[in-house]
Amino acid sequence: MSLARAVWCHMIHRPSPSQKSHFPSTRSKSPFPKIIPPFVAGQFLCKLRDLIMASDSPKDLPVRPAEDAKAKNAPPADTLPQWLIERNELFEKLWQQHLEETKNRPHPEINVTLDIGDGNPSSVPAKAYETTPGSFLRDVPKDVSANVVIAKVNGELWDLNRPLEGDCAVLLLPFSNNEAREVFWHSSAHALGEACECEFGCLLSHGPPTPQGFFYDMAMPDGRVVREADWKPLDNRAGKIFKEKQSFDRLEVSKENLKKMFAYSKYKLHYIDKLVTGEKSTVYRCGTLVDLCRGPHIQNTGKIKAFKIMQNSSAYFLGDQSNDSLQRIRGVAFPDKAKMQEHLKFLEEAEKRNHLRIGKEQELFFFDEVSPGCAFLLPNGTKIFNALQSLLRSEYRKRGYQEVQTPNMYDVGIWKTSGHWAHYKDDMFKLDVEKREWALKPMNCPGHFVMFGHRERSYRELPLRIADFGTLHRNEASGALSGLTRVRRFQQDDCHVFCEQSQIMSEIEGLFDFLQSIYGLFGFQFKLQLSTKPDSSLGSQETWDEAEDQLKKAMTKFKGDDWTIDEGGGAFYGPKIDITIADALKREFQCATIQLDYQAPLNFGLEYMTHEQVEKTEKPEKAEKAEKAEKAVKTEETEKKKETKPIDPGPGRARPVVIHRAIIGSFERFLGILIEHFGGKWPFWISPRQILIVPVMPAVNDYVEELQQILQGDKLNVDIDISGNTMQKKIRRGQLEFYNFILVVGAQEKESRSVNVRNRDDPSSQKHGTMVPLDELRAKLKSLRKERRLVNAL
Ligand SMILES: [Zn+2]
Ligand SMILES: [Zn+2]
Repeated sequence: MSLARAVWCHMIHRPSPSQKSHFPSTRSKSPFPKIIPPFVAGQFLCKLRDLIMASDSPKDLPVRPAEDAKAKNAPPADTLPQWLIERNELFEKLWQQHLEETKNRPHPEINVTLDIGDGNPSSVPAKAYETTPGSFLRDVPKDVSANVVIAKVNGELWDLNRPLEGDCAVLLLPFSNNEAREVFWHSSAHALGEACECEFGCLLSHGPPTPQGFFYDMAMPDGRVVREADWKPLDNRAGKIFKEKQSFDRLEVSKENLKKMFAYSKYKLHYIDKLVTGEKSTVYRCGTLVDLCRGPHIQNTGKIKAFKIMQNSSAYFLGDQSNDSLQRIRGVAFPDKAKMQEHLKFLEEAEKRNHLRIGKEQELFFFDEVSPGCAFLLPNGTKIFNALQSLLRSEYRKRGYQEVQTPNMYDVGIWKTSGHWAHYKDDMFKLDVEKREWALKPMNCPGHFVMFGHRERSYRELPLRIADFGTLHRNEASGALSGLTRVRRFQQDDCHVFCEQSQIMSEIEGLFDFLQSIYGLFGFQFKLQLSTKPDSSLGSQETWDEAEDQLKKAMTKFKGDDWTIDEGGGAFYGPKIDITIADALKREFQCATIQLDYQAPLNFGLEYMTHEQVEKTEKPEKAEKAEKAEKAVKTEETEKKKETKPIDPGPGRARPVVIHRAIIGSFERFLGILIEHFGGKWPFWISPRQILIVPVMPAVNDYVEELQQILQGDKLNVDIDISGNTMQKKIRRGQLEFYNFILVVGAQEKESRSVNVRNRDDPSSQKHGTMVPLDELRAKLKSLRKERRLVNAL
């Protein structure tokens, strides 16, 4: 869900008869209740650190210390704040008008086909502005209807309670569908928000679904913090909300009325200003909550059968540390209790694999507030990084890539030429040097374009494949930083292929083979999705058709029909293929992308001599070309020329197609994914702790040291333990630290120049290892590393 849609989401409600009595007609003196104070400077550093270390795993999220348990000014549970009462009264007034208008509308019969999810649509009787998708549930088998969360009407998500407006195709979606689950969690966030407003009298800010559930951010009265002791009353309140089966009432409201309705909250007013671009937007009511929200939602809160508050923390409004510090409450909910149990089990497993925890235990990396969002890679983490990099380098050599290095900072002119300045300026780190404006690169592409254009190019050089491990910086908001998954400084296995239009298919085939060989090493399954030409795009229909055709052929050759298509989902400058990998817990990540680009060669004036031209003039006019390349980086001039720059560079010359591609993407993020995928049990070739040597008695310590020398000479990561601890204790430590192999040596081993091997992944070897002659061991370890085998076996 986009941020825009996510923030949208939240609320009022039609009071039940019993609640009506809570709506006195007195007016509050000020429409602005006191809100949380901005963050105090002294708390800044520790706060920042909390945020940096945060991940979406609930236990890692920052938790501010609890304040005095005597809550300040919390409203008695049965009293609703005045602003809430006024907001809801306005909603109710507009709601009655809406009902009146709907009633007076004609309700003509419409043609509706209904698909209950089995792919067999049938015609059903329906009337416009009367029949709702939810009304069809009465005639659907119980086992199906019980699972339905939301409808899709002509491909658009649609509330089950929202009347149909014309001829349409209706599809019912169960919780197992990703979009439906998002709607379910999004709706659950409303219920949480409602409970929070009632319990705390707080001002809600933003409450989106997340991959793990949902949260709601709020400003508590007088800056009080949420405590774990608050969870139980919230849980109880939520339980009542579910029992009441509160419906979600959708209402379109004019911007003017929205401002009146939410005048009490600067947070909601911010969203109204920023996100309501038309004359009106929608507001939803469930229970006592009325929220600004685009919807849609589940039919009623009674669908939520299992609900749990997972965590509370603080978070800055809009993730920006210069804004108010808010309280964030995270929860998760399911349509049945079994699913909740399953989820809690999954979280337990995920927590065991948490990359921040393992990163600390294995001394791989750390973060420090001296440079938020930029990881310090310790020696062990660097060993993994280097193993990955040398893997890629060896593939580059095999596959005809050339590694280059490009500058880290550029005059902003280049970013204007590339288009980043217009769309990405705020996400870049900017510098002023000698009165010129510079920026740190957030991606390598423009540097590579300059490199391509710096001299005359011939068709003979194509495809030209340029690889770069350059350091990139992106100015992520401090609140958005999260472990290794969201950082400010990172390196990528970034490549750009410059090729002829006719070479696209073979390049893509080569990339698929590359992908397969890399992901296969880690045991990742992966999926492909092609995004095609959007409505407005650069280049002719013919060029796009041809490019898409080549991509489709390559995908079919590689994966048969096992790939999906997102029609119209490509960027305006070219079609792309997204590659999603699934880890050991079946969580999906997107690391790789393959993006075709017809715009960049145009912006940077990239061209090459075609076959015909090379034959005509073997000697290119170097001076003229060098001048052209220089022009590409001269901002304003280029900006002006852009409008007039011809798409066709003239006879005998052509523009290359650029393919942007990364396979592992950010090394930092990939390291995080690998830690969690392997749970810290590294395959031998990438392991920072390959071998631990333990003596049976001090008398063989010299042999232990000699072995370490020999194996280190084989470029293996070898530790020894000749401390005063018992042998059992040393072995136990080695097992807990996931050494791939523990070599135990005594007098017998020393005598026979052999070792006793215990294999981390072979339980039968743990008590009594296997005796292996040293030379044989060395040969086997070397081949295990060279072949980069996934299975830890000699
Ligand atoms: Zn909503
Ligand atoms: Zn690129």
